Amino acid sequence: MSDTPLSLLNRVFGYPAFRGEQAAIVDTLVAGDDALVLMPTGGGKSLCFQIPALLREGCAVVVSPLIALMQDQVAALQELGIAAAFLNSSLDGAAAMQVERDFVSGQLKLLYVAPERLLTPRFQSLLEQAHVALFAIDEAHCVSQWGHDFRPEYLGLSALHERFPEVPRIALTATADTATRAEILTRLDLGAARVFVASFDRPNIRYRISEKTEPRRQLLDFLREHAGEAGIVYCSTRKKVEETADALKQAGFTALPYHGGMDNDTRRRHQEKFLREDGVVMVATLAFGMGIDKPDVRFVAHLDLPRSVEGYYQETGRAGRDGEPAEAWMAWGLQDVVTQRRFIDEGEAEDSHKRIGHAKLDALVGLCEAASCRRVALLSYFGEASQACGNCDVCLNPPTLWDGTEAAQKLLSAVYRTGQRFGAGHVIDVLLGKATEKIDRFGHNQLSVFGIGASQTDKVWRAVLRQLVVRGLLEVDHTAYGALKLTVAAKPVLKGEETVMLRAIEARAARSKKTRLAVDHNDEDPLFLSLRAWRRETANEKGVPAYVILHDATLREIAARRPATLAELGEISGLGTKKLEAYGEAVLAVVAEG
Ligand code: ADP
Ligand code: ZN
Repeated sequence: MSDTPLSLLNRVFGYPAFRGEQAAIVDTLVAGDDALVLMPTGGGKSLCFQIPALLREGCAVVVSPLIALMQDQVAALQELGIAAAFLNSSLDGAAAMQVERDFVSGQLKLLYVAPERLLTPRFQSLLEQAHVALFAIDEAHCVSQWGHDFRPEYLGLSALHERFPEVPRIALTATADTATRAEILTRLDLGAARVFVASFDRPNIRYRISEKTEPRRQLLDFLREHAGEAGIVYCSTRKKVEETADALKQAGFTALPYHGGMDNDTRRRHQEKFLREDGVVMVATLAFGMGIDKPDVRFVAHLDLPRSVEGYYQETGRAGRDGEPAEAWMAWGLQDVVTQRRFIDEGEAEDSHKRIGHAKLDALVGLCEAASCRRVALLSYFGEASQACGNCDVCLNPPTLWDGTEAAQKLLSAVYRTGQRFGAGHVIDVLLGKATEKIDRFGHNQLSVFGIGASQTDKVWRAVLRQLVVRGLLEVDHTAYGALKLTVAAKPVLKGEETVMLRAIEARAARSKKTRLAVDHNDEDPLFLSLRAWRRETANEKGVPAYVILHDATLREIAARRPATLAELGEISGLGTKKLEAYGEAVLAVVAEG
């Protein structure tokens, strides 16, 4: 009986059905045609070349820039009983030679290689001798010089097509924008490829964005909702990474720091721990994340504002690759915006680049201030239309709007009357009518605006101020110690020609009101916990990450269905023949005990 894509999916991978365009992509390659695949993280890109690799004659050559990732992917394939190997600098000479021999003699179905090795004369001659089923070029956006992941070796990959015109190629990336897409097609000479663009929506990720008030406490509140789960907390500086990791450890979390200032060894150790153990919280700068394909990251938290919507999307996208409910949480404040604007302006870049930097930041701040669905705003940034999602903080807890015209006028006047020379703190003190030394010194208690805002709290004024800055009625001059200045857009408001609707600040009670995640995980289920303990032991014995053995989603389904026989167990998604053979009895024993 000959295999079909679907029968392989069922038998080898243990999944009941293809997702989205997977089936069409597989068909394209099996038929010998080229494909460009744009799919979000967690979309299921790997199967798009793994299944054709099994169906076509010969060995698939997978180009991947990330060594750590290769190792885990190959381990996962071997677990499924697939002849897979990698060639990279981590192998010693003898081991590498063995892999090369297996490749040429047709023992392998998938071979992962780093691009620099692929282009060596030695490997090129191996390619001539071996039978290549297809070329898969992962992280294809690395060919783009405008992106931040540019890899010069990727430019050499177009040579593959010249030398092996009959071998189909598939390029894959999770980077969305159209400029990069066009660059991939030309640079990799993929003009004739079929292009598959999946939706960039990640419906299982819940987006939550709050104002930064007491960041540490807010973070702890959030993390307590995710006790025992793995996640990433992003901070903008190394110092903050260290401090936050310490604070989390004190609060009882298994937290580890990760940033570019740490030595390689410690960094590697922390990364391994995060990948291999359950429930580790990684506190990191952006140095962490590229190529982390741990499927069960349950949350990504931002303690500082990322630089752009693209950055936010990429970083939050590391949560929930397994399709299970996950959260993207962020606390941001005006200070984040001010700091970033200063970075942009003080940078070396040309003016045109600075303008782009500001525009990107504006777009992100727009997302943070959105008074309607975050997902709609996020996807529309990538040119995708969608409906209110019901799974973001705005949909779940619509903000109340109030007519802030009068408040805006008061604040704008206070800025104007004090001479547009002072920062937020002083202007708000004037509004509140405080008796500070500075107010005394400048005689600001004599102004008509002194104390006109005393009926509101400091917190309310900060929220008003932030929104006026974000909307461009006020700007923060960081060349003058953060002095606030009016812009032309402030005029119609001051003249009473325009009303200003503002978001009310979140009441404390509303914030702590927990909304359950879409699926009740019920992680307290003792059987699920026993299964996880069994998996941890098994993974440790084999020296592979836990998810290589079985995914959380699979364990959960087992816990819920409590199968009693191998046949019943086999019906559960994520258990192919090989895994059933290897772990079936052990899993049934855990179920029988639990
Ligand atoms: P990507 O490389 O696009 O980020 P992966 O290929 O790592 O995504 O797949 C993400 C997760 O989804 C993996 O855990 C994978 O096993 C799972 N997956 C992929 N395709 C399917 C499918 N058709 N059915 C069930 N699970 C799938
Ligand atoms: Zn929504």
